[in-house]
Amino acid sequence: MVGGNRMVSGEGTSGRDGAALVDRHVAAHTDRKLPPTMTALVKPEPRAGAELREVPVPSVGPRDVLIEVLASSICGTDLHIYSWDPWAEGRVHTPIVFGHEFAGRVVATGADVTRVPLGAYVAAESHIACGNCYECRHGMQHVCRNVQIVGVDRPGAFAEYIAIPEGNAWLTSERFPPEIATIQEPMGNAVHTALSVPLAGANVAIFGAGPIGLFAVPIARASGAARIIVVEPSSYRRQLAERTGADVVIDPASENVVRRIREETGGEGADVVLEMSGNGNAIAQAMESLRFGGNISLLGIPARPVELDLADGVIFKGATVRGISGRRLWETWYQTRGFLESGMDLSPIVTHRLPLPEFETAFELVRSGQSGKVVMYPRGADRESEVGI
Ligand code: NAD
Ligand code: ZN
Repeated sequence: MVGGNRMVSGEGTSGRDGAALVDRHVAAHTDRKLPPTMTALVKPEPRAGAELREVPVPSVGPRDVLIEVLASSICGTDLHIYSWDPWAEGRVHTPIVFGHEFAGRVVATGADVTRVPLGAYVAAESHIACGNCYECRHGMQHVCRNVQIVGVDRPGAFAEYIAIPEGNAWLTSERFPPEIATIQEPMGNAVHTALSVPLAGANVAIFGAGPIGLFAVPIARASGAARIIVVEPSSYRRQLAERTGADVVIDPASENVVRRIREETGGEGADVVLEMSGNGNAIAQAMESLRFGGNISLLGIPARPVELDLADGVIFKGATVRGISGRRLWETWYQTRGFLESGMDLSPIVTHRLPLPEFETAFELVRSGQSGKVVMYPRGADRESEVGI
């Protein structure tokens, strides 16, 4: 631990089981005078929208680090919370600071922190696994049954500061600007999905070119995919897919997707399908366009149950179907770092950068689909910009 002044904080923010260490006053190390309050994007009540508010700077439990947030990116989950859809209604308790993809600098460390030094530049794993359940004890923390999610179950990252367990902080190279550091988390979803099966020499079909599907394109390319076919209804996102290296882009609104994928794969169908849309029709087409004996990995989350032809789509085809949840801890993070450090350029996918006070514009951009990844700057360090395509 890097030494420094001691500051006294209020209740801690996390325990081994994610519960608050209520009323436990702990000493944290810091090298600066931290303000008592900060600006944060709060979902104040169970209804659509959000408000910028002045709230207390989070307190630091003995194993927590306090991070000054330099950038936080918007995920589909945040849009669910912002819009307050049925999922949010059933899952999120207000008031809450939301947001879970971020990068920043460690400005205080709890008394028992040993791995993450003051001043460290970090991103974060947003899923806080319990470490004790059957899955965690089998090395499968990514499907921990007691998972706590940052910005869903506990205060999030659309704020000037966030406290997380040190075990969830991911030390990041200073070479990567905050807007790239923050997207390691969603990029990890793409890495986990794409590397769930061998891609070398394979014809790969990606359904959905949202940010995660877009990340999957260069990842599949770097993994040796022979041909990368992207299915996406938004023309803005099809253009982004082409820019990131897709060989073929298909508009499901104007083409027969299954026939086209067969044509593009010499009549065989795709060796590997990565389902990254969550759209029910797309999932059915994804199965149909898979070749006999092929692999399909499902990441996209359908809003409701989906009816599928298992007999022809999976069983007689001898297909292998995998569900993908989160990121494998911590293999996926090391693989993600490896791709970035090898020079993978994801900057075209970060299409919009705005200061946090312009959150309404930012969420509208995400909702419209006229965007790739949208990044916000809680400290207003960046000005609004759009990377034209
Ligand atoms: P996104 O909503 O930005 O992207 C989904 C894309 O699918 C959109 O571009 C949309 O236009 C496209 N789409 C809609 N209908 C389609 C169709 N018929 N065919 C092909 N594409 C279609 O979301 P994202 O942030 O890129 O995430 C992708 C998916 O992964 C979402 O469903 C998200 O909820 C899910 N997700 C899952 C996990 C996990 O752990 N399993 C983690 C993060 C995100
Ligand atoms: Zn667990």
